[in-house]
Amino acid sequence: MTSERIVIVGAGLAGAGAAAELRERGFDGDIALLGAEAHPPYIRPPLSKGYLAGDEARDSFEVHPLGWYAEHGIRFVPGSTAVSLDREARLVGLAGGDAVGYDRLLLATGSTPNPLPVPGGELAGVHLLRTVDQADTLRAALAGGGRRVVLIGSGWIGMEVAATARTLGDEVTVLLRGEVPLASQLGAELGGDFARLHEEHGVVLRPGVVVREVIGEGGAVTGVLLDGGEVVPADVVVAAVGAAPATALAASAGLVTGDGVHVDEHLRTSDERIWAAGDIAAAVHPLLAAAGLPARIRSEHWANAEKTGPAAARSMLGDETPYDAIPYFYTDQFDLGMEYTGFPRLAADAELVVRGDRAGREFVAFWVRQGAVVAGMNVNVWDIADDIERLVRAGFAGQRVDPSRLADPAVPLGEV
Ligand SMILES: Cc1cc2nc3c(=O)[nH]c(=O)nc-3n(C[C@H](O)[C@H](O)[C@H](O)COP(=O)(O)OP(=O)(O)OC[C@H]3O[C@@H](n4cnc5c(N)ncnc54)[C@H](O)[C@@H]3O)c2cc1C
Repeated sequence: MTSERIVIVGAGLAGAGAAAELRERGFDGDIALLGAEAHPPYIRPPLSKGYLAGDEARDSFEVHPLGWYAEHGIRFVPGSTAVSLDREARLVGLAGGDAVGYDRLLLATGSTPNPLPVPGGELAGVHLLRTVDQADTLRAALAGGGRRVVLIGSGWIGMEVAATARTLGDEVTVLLRGEVPLASQLGAELGGDFARLHEEHGVVLRPGVVVREVIGEGGAVTGVLLDGGEVVPADVVVAAVGAAPATALAASAGLVTGDGVHVDEHLRTSDERIWAAGDIAAAVHPLLAAAGLPARIRSEHWANAEKTGPAAARSMLGDETPYDAIPYFYTDQFDLGMEYTGFPRLAADAELVVRGDRAGREFVAFWVRQGAVVAGMNVNVWDIADDIERLVRAGFAGQRVDPSRLADPAVPLGEV
């Protein structure tokens, strides 16, 4: 048995997956999994969907049941926030004064939702959504239906909450700075499809507005004041204005950070004893690097946390396999389910090719750049994400596709 100590800061999906993988791969030293929240690790996608709607039970999205950690000799410490990192002494300092020593350290501290960028965030009825505790509060506010719910922000989480609240019978308004939701991720054309989906279900979209302030009476929210003086009445306001990687600990210890903690293709930071995984990891992607493209990417999605946690664990145990998964994420809104596989940054200036019935919301969108597929999104079409991934990999290996064959559902994807 080794006396090595591995400490994992951040008990989310990435941290928990890393702990499990360490044991799976035979690491028999000490593992401490430190989590700021009071709960065992859980996955977050249900917080804006099934759990928020009241359809999914709390224990259905725990990464492992609480007892699993002790059974596997993993010291899971809930309610324990790391506040300092002394790399020379190899000590993680905890709020409350204790310190935990490590030989190897994994940082998996996830993201922090951006606060409301205007006054009024402290009013009762104004919500952020990142944790299950926040989801519980929001769920209670939405559950009865008939509330006037205003979403500030129109990214994935904002649009998912809008769909869930509308399904629960609330009156929902989404305030957008731009013209359509999700434009920065999908482009204006497909963002427009999401706008229509929401409008068909009775969500009011208010494009091109600037929020000045959230206003209230007696400490409770009553509305959102827009530039120009209009007040959009509200009983519930959800600020869904993005999230930032929780890099403070890494940065304070002098690790190289930027948009995330910089790691190499083995998920190792600028300190050879420290790794990072999940939302905070800004990793060098081997395919992008080999293609001579800007190679550092950070993916704030479930699949990235699910894969990079175990990959970092393997790297900590000496596995030199580079981490080269193709980014993947999904969303569910009303009766639309979709998966996206590929590199959103490369898709930004690519040609859009659609296969299938876009008006009927059963299609696959591909983004083609210099003849190569760089991303694909399947909407209400299933069991195809692996094919899209193969196409993206093939593109990096030099395969060029014929857009007309790509658009033709009669041509198998392997033959485009
Ligand atoms: C509402 C919601 C819906 C989502 N839906 C989808 C979806 O449909 N599809 C998709 O692909 N992705 C979705 N995501 C994104 C996905 O959940 C994240 O990418 C994923 O949770 C990242 O996992 P992680 O382990 O890196 O970080 P997290 O899940 O954020 O976990 C990090 C943990 O570390 C803890 N921590 C932070 N700092 C410290 C510290 N100093 N000391 C100790 N602990 C600390 C945090 O409290 C947290 O518990 C959603 C996210 C949210 C919030």
